[in-house]
Amino acid sequence: MNGVNKMVIEEIAILNGNIITMDSKIPKCRAVFVKDGKVECIGSDEDIKKKIGEKTKILDVDGKTVLPGFKECHMHFSEFVKSLSKVDLRDCASIEEIKEKLKENIEKKIIIGMSFNDESFLEKRIPNRKDLDEVSDGIPIIIYRVDLHVCVVNSKALELLGIDKMSKPFEGGAIEKFSNGEPNGILKENAVKMASKLEQKFQSKGFENDLLKASKIAFKYGLTSVSDLLVDWNILQTYRELEKQGKVKLHINTYIIDECLKDEKRLVEELSKGKYVKLRGIKFILDGSLGSKTAALLEGYSGDPKNVGIMRIPYDELESKVIKADQLGVQISLHAIGDKGASYALEVLSKTKRRKQLRHRIEHLQVLNENLINKMKDLDIIAVVQPIFINTDYPWVESRLGQKRIQYAYTLKTLLNKGIKVAGSSDRPVESMNPFWGMYCAVSQRDLEGNPFPEWVKKERVTMKQALTLFTTEAAYATHENSGKLVPGAVADLIILPEDPFKVTLDVLKSMDSLLTIINGKVVYAKKDIFYK
Ligand SMILES: [Zn+2]
Repeated sequence: MNGVNKMVIEEIAILNGNIITMDSKIPKCRAVFVKDGKVECIGSDEDIKKKIGEKTKILDVDGKTVLPGFKECHMHFSEFVKSLSKVDLRDCASIEEIKEKLKENIEKKIIIGMSFNDESFLEKRIPNRKDLDEVSDGIPIIIYRVDLHVCVVNSKALELLGIDKMSKPFEGGAIEKFSNGEPNGILKENAVKMASKLEQKFQSKGFENDLLKASKIAFKYGLTSVSDLLVDWNILQTYRELEKQGKVKLHINTYIIDECLKDEKRLVEELSKGKYVKLRGIKFILDGSLGSKTAALLEGYSGDPKNVGIMRIPYDELESKVIKADQLGVQISLHAIGDKGASYALEVLSKTKRRKQLRHRIEHLQVLNENLINKMKDLDIIAVVQPIFINTDYPWVESRLGQKRIQYAYTLKTLLNKGIKVAGSSDRPVESMNPFWGMYCAVSQRDLEGNPFPEWVKKERVTMKQALTLFTTEAAYATHENSGKLVPGAVADLIILPEDPFKVTLDVLKSMDSLLTIINGKVVYAKKDIFYK
């Protein structure tokens, strides 16, 4: 459609729609009236036609489905933006293939590769610096594992990082070495941060352009809100400046790294700033990931019983910081993947006084037990899960956890049945942020390729309605947004879909995208202009 970006529409009347409001009082209606960025009213075509004035844009959607915009409440949006200029290694099936792909980028000043997955490599091992030196020993190279908890750097990057034989073990992380004591280029957990800092030094000025590109991808997926779960003051400032220039067109909910708690005054001030870019809370990373065997477990990994994972922050430090943030009125988000991580998270959240009002949340929760689930419910803590993880993880995760623990792994239905608030997300760039894939994985008895899931996965699948709430109402709750439902007074974030998710097969659902995306009452994306009169 021509001129979508320039058009400032203050009033929109959506008529003739199959409108799913996600509000239990009036679940369906035909028409919506949007004014000054808010839903003004909903009702029948006749009701809404009465509102139409000279400047109202009329969208006759011809019976198409209208929904509140989808929300992605746990992703790393700035990482996604940056990843658009990085090398995608997701589909590489061998270390040789990785080398080939990296070599295509040899003209760059630094080569960053994303999302390699050694689980699917022919060689059955993580690459090391010698592999990467074969690509180049003159340009720094950093490649990140799909879970971002492990990265591999080449010799040039090690030199720039000042890592050598003499480097001491890294607190809350690891600098791995060859048997002769030389670093092998593999960095884990907290040590990964060093590589990210090196990367920042080389960062090109492409962020602004890439932000627009990334936003368009989000609009196409029907996402009206995204999130950034680990920002520092620099990234927040960059977002704020771009918002001032009118370059941010979707809601970005940010969560700041725990180091920023040092600057209490600024932290509190930032909470009330911005229209699109919001600082919502503070994020703490408690443990690692199951893929890297660094998620903290109460009992050792199956087949590797001495390994209980890594706790990345000492409990006492976590407790004092979390209590401080709670007192300051800041929402708390805790990354906890293993059951030990979850038990620390719940222990520390039990000490907070404002957890209900501030809506404290735990991210991932991939290994639980009955006790922990009861505690979640008692403390009223939000679970932020990633239904799409199951698609990638189910083939190997049982061997990490064993038959007993797997019954409480990647729970979804169990949490919802308990009455726990559950919000959906993707952790992009770990997985695709396509919410249709997320909903498919929440509902389907089969993976995205159509292979049947094992029983322990099947028993946790939920209804289509529940899947929709994960990415609308519940995600809005988890980020304190006044949207996720089409009710009068809500922020006018909505999407028009080609089909009704309740009436199509899951295969159709997974290949859907948005026909039209409206954010803050403005059309930001339109696949077709057929609706305009
Ligand atoms: Zn994350």
